[in-house]
Amino acid sequence: MKKRNVAIIAHVDHGKTTLVDQILKSSGTFRENEDTSNITMDSNAIEKERGITILAKTTAINYNDYRINIVDTPGHADFGGEVERIMNMVDGALLVVDAYEGPMPQTRFVLKKALEAGVKPIVVINKVDKPSARCEKVVDEVLDLFIELGASDEQIDFKVVYASAINGTSSLDPDLSTQKPGFNPLLDLIISEIPAPSGSAEEPLQFQPALLDYNEYVGRIGVGRIHNGMIKVGQMVTCCRLDGTTKQFRVQKLFGFLGMKKIEVESAEAGDIVAVAGLADISVGETLCDTTHVLPLPPLRIDEPTLQMTFGTNTSPFAGRDQDTKFLTARQLEDRLQKELQKDISLRVLPNDAESWIVCGRGELHLSILIENLRREGYELQVSKPKVIIKEIDGVKMEPFEELEIECPEESVGSVIEQLGSRGAIMENMTNFNNQTRLTYTIPSRGLIGFTTDFMTLTKGYGIINHSFKEYRPYENINIGERKLGVLVSIDEGKTTAYALGSAEERGVMFVTPGVEVYEGMIVGEHSRENDLAVNVTKGKNLTNVRAAGSDHTVVLKRPRPITLEYALDYINEDELVEVTPHNLRLRKKTLNTEQRKKEDARRQK
Ligand code: GDP
Repeated sequence: MKKRNVAIIAHVDHGKTTLVDQILKSSGTFRENEDTSNITMDSNAIEKERGITILAKTTAINYNDYRINIVDTPGHADFGGEVERIMNMVDGALLVVDAYEGPMPQTRFVLKKALEAGVKPIVVINKVDKPSARCEKVVDEVLDLFIELGASDEQIDFKVVYASAINGTSSLDPDLSTQKPGFNPLLDLIISEIPAPSGSAEEPLQFQPALLDYNEYVGRIGVGRIHNGMIKVGQMVTCCRLDGTTKQFRVQKLFGFLGMKKIEVESAEAGDIVAVAGLADISVGETLCDTTHVLPLPPLRIDEPTLQMTFGTNTSPFAGRDQDTKFLTARQLEDRLQKELQKDISLRVLPNDAESWIVCGRGELHLSILIENLRREGYELQVSKPKVIIKEIDGVKMEPFEELEIECPEESVGSVIEQLGSRGAIMENMTNFNNQTRLTYTIPSRGLIGFTTDFMTLTKGYGIINHSFKEYRPYENINIGERKLGVLVSIDEGKTTAYALGSAEERGVMFVTPGVEVYEGMIVGEHSRENDLAVNVTKGKNLTNVRAAGSDHTVVLKRPRPITLEYALDYINEDELVEVTPHNLRLRKKTLNTEQRKKEDARRQK
C-alpha cells in the first residue's frame, strides 16, 4: 500500500473533529457493521474543555490504494517539543480554518513549527455553509499569516479545499453551489500535493519513536514513523540509546492505525507510522535498527522540565470523604504517577518522603492537566506551590527563562506591560496591527507562574499568550510575583454559617459560601492585610439573643471568589497546599493547628 502522512492543525471549534469523523465515514474505512456514530478525535474531556489537544493521536484512512495517516497536534506551547517531533513524522499538514473567523493567532505557534519543518500545507476552509462565510478573504488572511511566519515559496503556493464538514460536502471551488458530498477533492490533494514519505523498505531498519504510549498488557510502546527498512513481530532489533549504548530485544507486538483504532499488524515498512512494543523502557528519540546494521538517527528534541511541585497523599481531616474517591493511599498515587511516566517523556517523578513525590513538568498547564486527570479518575492528593527548577551549571546558580509572545487589545497594553515589568520580564519587541498589540518578552519562568490568570483578567479574556522554554540564565536575586496579602484561616472544624461569614467578610474576601464543611487550618479567604488571620466561620448566632434570631436569613454576603485549580496553584505560598479530591478543591495551611502555626510564624519572623 502507498502512504501519505499528514498532521492536522486547527483552532478549537473550527471543525477538526467533525472533519476527521466525516472523512472516515465517507472514505469507507469502516466495515459495514461498525458503529461510527460516536467517533471523535478529541476524546479527552479535559482537552475539550481547554480547547487543546494534549496527546497526539493518529487516525488512518484507506483511500484507493493509499493509507493516509492523520496525526493530531497539541495546541499549546508547553508541548513544543512534541509538535516538532510530530512534524518530523509527517510530510504535509492540513490547516483547518473557519470560513468566517479566519486563522486564529492561537494556531500560529503550531503552524510556525510546521512551516519551519518544511512540510507541505493544504488549507481547508471549513463551514462554508455558514451564511457569514467569507471564503476569499479568509484565504487572503491565511496567505498573510504564512508570509509572516516565513513560509517558503512552495508552501505559500498552497492548495485550498472548501468544505462543510457538518454536511459532509467539499469542493475545490469557493462557490457554494459546487459543494458535493464526500471529501475526495481533499483526499486527492493529499495524494497529489504531499510527498510520499522518504526512505526505502530495501534499506536496513531505522525506526525512531517520536511519542510514547502505554498499555497494561504490553507496557511502554514507542510510536513513530519507520524511516527505512522493515519491521516484523518476533524480530530481534537493536535499540540505540540516547547515551550511546545499545540493547537488543525482540519485537513483541506491532500496531498500525486504522480509523480511530490501533490494530495489531505482523509487519510494517518504511513510511508507516507504527507503535512498537517489546522494550519496557523504550524512549523518544532512540533508534531501532537491524542487529547487523546499527545506524542511529539524529536525536529528537525533548522538552526538559522547568517546573516542579510535590504531589502527596491527602493528609487533611476530610481525606476520603468524597463520594467518588477511589484512590487514597501513597502506593496507589505512586503507581499512578509511574504509569504516567511511561507515556510522558517530559515528566519526572522523584521521591520526596514516604508520602509525597517531587513531580517535574514543562509548565503549569502540563502539571495541572495531570492533576485534573487524577481527580477525575478518583484520586485524592495534596499539591504544593509550583517552583521553577534551579540548576547549578559550572558552579553558578541558574534559572529557566522563556520566550513569551502575547497579543492583546490596545486598551489593555499599559497594564499588561506594567504587570510584566513587575515579573522581571524584558521586552524584546512590540508591534501594532488592527487595534491589537503583539509583544515579545524574555521572562524568567518564575515570573510566568500565575501570570496567565492575571493576563486574562487584564485583557478581559481577549488576550492570547504563548511561551516556550528559551535557556537557563544566572539566577537573579529578586522577588517575583509573590502574593502580597495574607489569608483568612479557619480556626475550627464545622459548617460555615452566613452569620460568621458576614463578620469574617469585613476582614477580606471569602473563598467559601455558607453551609460548607471546613476544618482547622483551611484557608477560607484572603485577608485585606499582609499577615494571616485565624477566623471563626462556623459560629452560629447567639441563640439567647432574641433580637438576633432569624438574622441569618438577612445577612447579605458578597459573592465568594471562585477557586479553580490553576488559580489555586498560583495563589498558594510555600507554607500552604492545595487539597484535590474528585469534587473539592481546598486551600490549606501545611500546619493545620492554629497554635502551632503561630509559633512557627513567630520563629520565622525572627
Ligand atoms: P474542533 O474543536 O476543531 O474539533 O471542532 P468540532 O469538530 O468539535 O466542531 C465545532 C463546532 O462547529 C461544532 O458545533 C460543529 O457542529 C460545528 N461545525 C463543524 N463543521 C461545521 C461546518 O462545516 N459548518 C457548520 N455550520 N458548523 C460546523
